[in-house]
Amino acid sequence: MADKVTLEKVVALCKRRGFIFQSSEIYGGLASTYDYGHYGVLLKNNVKAEWWRAVVQERDDMVALDAAILMHPRTWEASGHLEGFTDPLVQCLGECKKRWREDDLRTEQLGDEHAEGEIRCPECGGELSEPRQFNLMFETLMGPSEETGMKVYLRPETAQGIFVNFKNVLQSARKVPPFGIAQVGKAFRNEITPGNFIFRTREFEQMEIEFFVPPAEAPEWHQRWMEERMRWYTELGIRESRLQLRKHGPDELSHYSSATSDIEYEFPMGFSELEGIANRGDFDLKQHAEFSGEKLEYVDSGSGDRYVPHVIEPSAGADRATLAFMVDAYDEEEVEGRERVLLRLHPRLAPVKVAVLPLVNKDGQPEKAREIYEEVRGRMPAEFDNGGSIGKRYRRQDEIGTPWGVTVDHQTMEDDTVTLRDRDSLEQSRIAIAELGAELERRLAEPWMTPKVE
Ligand code: ATP
Repeated sequence: MADKVTLEKVVALCKRRGFIFQSSEIYGGLASTYDYGHYGVLLKNNVKAEWWRAVVQERDDMVALDAAILMHPRTWEASGHLEGFTDPLVQCLGECKKRWREDDLRTEQLGDEHAEGEIRCPECGGELSEPRQFNLMFETLMGPSEETGMKVYLRPETAQGIFVNFKNVLQSARKVPPFGIAQVGKAFRNEITPGNFIFRTREFEQMEIEFFVPPAEAPEWHQRWMEERMRWYTELGIRESRLQLRKHGPDELSHYSSATSDIEYEFPMGFSELEGIANRGDFDLKQHAEFSGEKLEYVDSGSGDRYVPHVIEPSAGADRATLAFMVDAYDEEEVEGRERVLLRLHPRLAPVKVAVLPLVNKDGQPEKAREIYEEVRGRMPAEFDNGGSIGKRYRRQDEIGTPWGVTVDHQTMEDDTVTLRDRDSLEQSRIAIAELGAELERRLAEPWMTPKVE
C-alpha cells in the first residue's frame, strides 16, 4: 500500500471534520496558531492519556506535576534561557523584507547549518542582513500597571517547572533516584519561522519527563529511555519504517547536554523531530541551586552520602505527536468503485471507538440503536448517528478514525443481534447485543498493528 498522504490532505480533513481550525479565523486568522475542535480535543487528549499511562501509571518510579506557566524570572537566568535561548535571525534586504532563520537557510542552501558561503533570501533572492540573535521567549508584565509591573515570561519549555520543584517532590513523594517527574503543559516560543500546520507553532503543548539518576547510571538510563520512547510510538501504531533515532553531532548539542538523540518521524516534509532525549547531566539542578541558594541534592538517609542527581530528559510535543499519528494513519483506498478516506488510528487513540447506526430511520431501528448507544457509551466514547444514508455515515466515521461500527437492521428487531463492522478490514460479523459491550472492550484492550505496510 503506497502512502498517499500529504500535509494538505491532513489539513483539509482536519478542517472538514472539525479536528483543528485556524485560530481567530473570522478575523483573518492569527499566523501559525490553531484551535482544536471536538475530535481534535478527543484525539490529543488520548495521546496525552497514553503518555501518562505509559510513563506514570505503568511505572513505579515516576510522579506527576503540573507547574504554572508563569515562573519567577530568575528561573530563566539560571536555566540560561535569557541569554542563550536564541535563534540567528536574518532579514531580507531585497524586495520582500522577510525574516528567516540563518541556520535553516545554510542547511537548505549549503547543506550544513555551519557551512560558510553566501546565502540568499529564498523568497525573492535578495541579499540578507547580518544575523542577530533573537530571543524566542514571549514577555509579559505581571501587575496592574505598566510602570511597576514585573517582567515575566511565558515558559518556553515545561522542564524548568520540574527542576524548581525538585526539592518539594523529593520531600513529599518518598522516591529515591532513579526516579522521574512527568509533566504535560503549554509552552510558548516566538519562533521565527513557524509552519507545517501544527508541527511548529508559537504556542504548543509538551509532554516532558525529567528523570533523576545517580551520576554513574546516566548513560545507561539515557539508552533505556530512547528505547522506551521508541516503543511508545510503535505500540501506538506508528510504522517503525517511518521512525528513526538521530544522534546530535557535537556542534549541535545544547550547552547543558552531553548527549542528545532525537526521535524523528518521516512527515511529508521529510524526517523531522518528534521528541528529544537528552542527557542533561547535573547542569539544571546545579544552576538552580546556585541562583536560589537552596540545596538541590539527594542525601541517602542510611549512608549520609549526598550527590546532585544527573538528569535524563525525554521531551515530546503533544501536538507534533498528534500530527504524526494522523499522518501515519491517513489512508485512501477504492472500495466497490468509490474512494474511501480513512484514519487508521490505533483504537486507543481514536476519538470515537464505536458508532451505532440504524440502517434505516424507521421501524423502531433508531430507538433500538439509541438504546444500544446509551449502554455502550458508559464503557467507551461512542456516537449515535441517524442522519443521511448509511454509506455517508460510514464515510464520516472512517474519516474520524472510528474503529468499529454497529448497525441495527431489520434482523436486529427479530433476534437482538447487530452487525459489527471493522474499519480496517471492512469485515462484518453478526453479534448478539448482550455480548457487544464485552466484545468491544476485548478488542480495545488487544494489541493493534496498522495494516499499512509501507
Ligand atoms: P526544533 O529543533 O524542532 O525547534 P527543539 O529541539 O528546539 O525543536 P525541544 O526544545 O527539544 O525542541 O522541545 C521538545 C519537543 O517539543 C520537540 O521535540 C517538539 O516535539 C516540541 N516542540 C518544540 N518546539 C515546538 C514548536 N514550535 N511547535 C510544536 N512543538 C514543538
